[in-house]
Amino acid sequence: MSLKIAIQKSGRLHEDSIKLLNDCGIVVHNGHNQLKSIAENFPMELYFLRDDDIPQYVQDGVAHIGIVGENVAYEKCKQVQIIKELGFGKCRLSIAVPRSAEYEDVQYLKGKKIATSYPFLCAQFLKKHRIEAEIHEISGSVEIAPSIGLADAICDLVSSGSTLITNGLKETEIILESQAVLIQNVGLGTEQTELISKLLFRINAVQAAKRNKYILLNAPTESLQEIFSLLPGMKSPTVLPLAEEGWSSIHSVLSEDEFWEKIEALKKAGAQGILVVPIEKMII
Ligand code: ATP
Ligand code: MG
Repeated sequence: MSLKIAIQKSGRLHEDSIKLLNDCGIVVHNGHNQLKSIAENFPMELYFLRDDDIPQYVQDGVAHIGIVGENVAYEKCKQVQIIKELGFGKCRLSIAVPRSAEYEDVQYLKGKKIATSYPFLCAQFLKKHRIEAEIHEISGSVEIAPSIGLADAICDLVSSGSTLITNGLKETEIILESQAVLIQNVGLGTEQTELISKLLFRINAVQAAKRNKYILLNAPTESLQEIFSLLPGMKSPTVLPLAEEGWSSIHSVLSEDEFWEKIEALKKAGAQGILVVPIEKMII
């Protein structure tokens, strides 16, 4: 029994998907032009596919799980369950119009022609705003549609926005904020479910490690209580005596979000020789 996972063959999600598996300790050999591969040290079979096809494969159970953007997961309307946000492949599905357009609100789109590769999500957005417009489905190079007279607006993926600028467009509405997610077939047996739990356990450890840093510092005894309140740690901080009387070394874990604020406060409290090191895995 092995867990069958579908990942993008090539494109924006491919490398990060492989990296995630590697970070989870799963060794994957992805030879050139290979469509299938077997992991070395985890019961896992990998299928390399176009991202558009992955929800269907997962729905049909050909693959048990898959990695796709939420944009694809929602657009394809397949019966699959999203089980984990993976934190990469971040982008948004947006409406954009020519820079010169006098766009005030969504009403602008009434009766207009919108080019998109996301007809379902685009139609859902228009319906929500009770706007009748024509959706023109195209499979790529959507951003040139207005300049060649094919459409008045587009509904496409944006990350930095530079492609829109290059094509004389401006982003006017965000339809969906998207990132890569792990999707799962809804009718799996116990064995597959157990393997997925194992994988999720590892993914959680990898994600927690990324969000946190290991911190070591020296502090005089009189500062210890204040430093403990700043560094609660996973359970509580480790305190080791230094060779020099009246000083201790404190080890703890610090979240990335509050990192700089805490460092300043620690220095004010009397901390010295602060070392911050990355954590590879974190089991909470
Ligand atoms: P495939 O050949 O597999 O069909 P594709 O051309 O449809 O590939 P990519 O451009 O590789 O797809 O994008 C894959 C996913 O990466 C998108 O569905 C989206 O979730 C995510 N993504 C992140 N940033 C962007 C971006 N700026 N533009 C497009 N997709 C992005
Ligand atoms: Mg695609």
